[in-house]
Amino acid sequence: MMSTELQEDNAVRRNLEESSRSLGQKAAVAESRAVAAEGDLTIEREWRISLQESMVRDRDKIAALTQEVESLKSIGQKYLALQEEQHNLILQYSDAQKTLEEVGATLSENKLQLAELLEKEARVSEEIPNWASDKDATSCAACAKDFTIARRKHHCRRCGNIFCSACSDKTVALPGNTKPVRVCDACFAEVRLT
Ligand SMILES: [Zn+2]
Ligand SMILES: [Zn+2]
Repeated sequence: MMSTELQEDNAVRRNLEESSRSLGQKAAVAESRAVAAEGDLTIEREWRISLQESMVRDRDKIAALTQEVESLKSIGQKYLALQEEQHNLILQYSDAQKTLEEVGATLSENKLQLAELLEKEARVSEEIPNWASDKDATSCAACAKDFTIARRKHHCRRCGNIFCSACSDKTVALPGNTKPVRVCDACFAEVRLT
């Protein structure tokens, strides 16, 4: 009876020892798992922090790029506006140049006429010192008839006085002229006498 009890006691103790060992092993496994998990957590936290930092950097980059795109867009718009302005300026310029050319042509024509007039006047006053002023004459120096649209003024190329056509319808060859020129009746008579 005693030996059987002892045997049972021994068996119980063995069982207890066994389960205690197994629990110890389980605890060791659990601890190592916990350590590993902690390590993983640390790695994950570091990784998350670095990810956040890189996200912040990316956000800054994106903001900078967005700003750059906006400024490029506005530069593009300014460029288009400038191009249109340039186009308008070219049109205005060619218009202005055309006007200038026309003005220039008129001007040179006027200049030419003025030069001709001055030359004629210089030649006339050089050759005929008593050349009468055209605008002062109201009537013929010979017959005294008033000048009208029908009765026009004519200079005698010799004495320089102003006559009507009837009183200056003769021409003579005078020195300095290639063709015979208009003279008044009095001058014609004088030239005939010399
Ligand atoms: Zn006359
Ligand atoms: Zn005359």
